[in-house]
Amino acid sequence: MASYAADLQQVCGCGWAVTGSNTEELVAKVKKHAKETHGINELPQELVQKFQKAVRPAM
Ligand SMILES: [Zn+2]
Repeated sequence: MASYAADLQQVCGCGWAVTGSNTEELVAKVKKHAKETHGINELPQELVQKFQKAVRPAM
């Protein structure tokens, strides 16, 4: 059951939406997405901060 969601439009600009039961799970999914979709092996601190601002509790 997802309790957190993030709209990555503000992070990587592709509009991919991620959901997870906790923020650690979200970060893991974002890292996987960044690597597989954008070829980013190591998430830059700048993107991590943008991502953390984009995280919202999901209904
Ligand atoms: Zn993306």
